[in-house]
Amino acid sequence: MLAQMRWLLLLPVPPLLLLPLACPAVNCPAMFVPRTTSSRYRRAILKYLPTLVIGILAGYIAGTRNLTLQEISQIKYELSQPDAPACDHASEQEILDQYHPHGQKPVKAALVALVRNTDLLGMRQTIRQIEDRFNSRFNYPYIFLNDVPFTEEFKAGVRILTSANVSFGELDSESWGMPEWIDRERFEVVKRTARYPHGGSDSYRKMCRFQSGFIHKHPLLADLEFYWRIEPDVEFFCDQEYDPFVYMKENGLKYGWVIGMTEFMDTVATLWNTTMGFIAEHPGMVSPANLKRWLLDDAGNYNGCHFWTNFEIVDLSFYRSPEYEAYFQHLDRAGGFFYERWGDAPVHSIAAALFLNASQTHWFEDIGYFHPAVAKCPSGSNIRSKCVCDPQRSFVEKSYCIVRYKESKQMVLDPEATEPVHTGPVYMAVPVVG
Ligand code: GDP
Ligand code: MN
Repeated sequence: MLAQMRWLLLLPVPPLLLLPLACPAVNCPAMFVPRTTSSRYRRAILKYLPTLVIGILAGYIAGTRNLTLQEISQIKYELSQPDAPACDHASEQEILDQYHPHGQKPVKAALVALVRNTDLLGMRQTIRQIEDRFNSRFNYPYIFLNDVPFTEEFKAGVRILTSANVSFGELDSESWGMPEWIDRERFEVVKRTARYPHGGSDSYRKMCRFQSGFIHKHPLLADLEFYWRIEPDVEFFCDQEYDPFVYMKENGLKYGWVIGMTEFMDTVATLWNTTMGFIAEHPGMVSPANLKRWLLDDAGNYNGCHFWTNFEIVDLSFYRSPEYEAYFQHLDRAGGFFYERWGDAPVHSIAAALFLNASQTHWFEDIGYFHPAVAKCPSGSNIRSKCVCDPQRSFVEKSYCIVRYKESKQMVLDPEATEPVHTGPVYMAVPVVG
């Protein structure tokens, strides 16, 4: 309301401008400059008076047009360029259309993290990065979820970093816990003997089970079409110059990812067989244009390739689909989230590869991203102006799961494609960096 009334501030301007016309009749200098002022100062003040009036006028106009200081200096800079084409910059409306920071969003989406209170510093780093690279312009809301209440310190610490909406939610006991059919004694033995990362942890397994089967059912996500999952301590190396949610929606994409790699096979020892058991019961659920080849090595065995889910942009209708829900229920019953340590990454990836059409999964090759301890630079980003990404830190693009994904996708989408022959090396390993 106040902003709309700002034009009232212009009211005193016309009389001010008319004042010089009345100068012959009135003693103008005397009006503006006290007689006691020395004549040198009086002349100087009179000389700069018009500039002062124009400055005030420009200030009023800028104020009423709601321009920021940055926009004013940009316009001033462009006008000062001798051969700058007039009006080369996007109009205010074009900018709004592109970034839609205030109006209705074209996609109902949010940045979502399951996170611990103790991850406050790491989460603040992520938010700082994502605001700087993307969200200060796009203004998508954040949703933070936790198995215990968020502390006031956590809430204040993340809210201060963004002007977007932030909400905080807790998990119910069904979504964060161990189902009653899990044999507690067997689980204790597994934890004592497991030799893989997080093998001895209860909470890590609950986290993987929650991210696999429940995150998309949380009431705070009920209205969302898409989510972008974020985690503490990650980095984004490039300005995100377009809206990935809009991009995915417009192109019919359901699953977007950046980093892909193989899994510690002991954590998923029976996941593939359990999956095949499910498929045998529901053969009609597998997409005809699926990416099963990506999940298998040349001998036809499960190769552990998965999308790293600490970054994922997903059309939530995929996780809400009957196929995905039936698959999760089948896995949960089998108990491998606890008897092994099935991660949400292989679970999401197998589901995306089998239930979606290959053209609905998308590698965001142009997003520069780091999650401890793997980084991914877009190719050529060390010379691209809006990325600061050290190629030495970036994982090899010839890494096995990336090559296999690209090949498999091409083979599905192009009926003419034949089984590729590898002339160069295909790396199995992903370099791990600090
Ligand atoms: P990693 O990426 O596989 O090493 O696993 P992280 O430790 O980063 O955990 C993945 C995400 O789940 C992070 O956002 C963590 O903050 C969150 N997380 C992990 N364990 C818990 C937990 O016990 N409680 C809550 N609330 N969040 C957790
Ligand atoms: Mn993590």
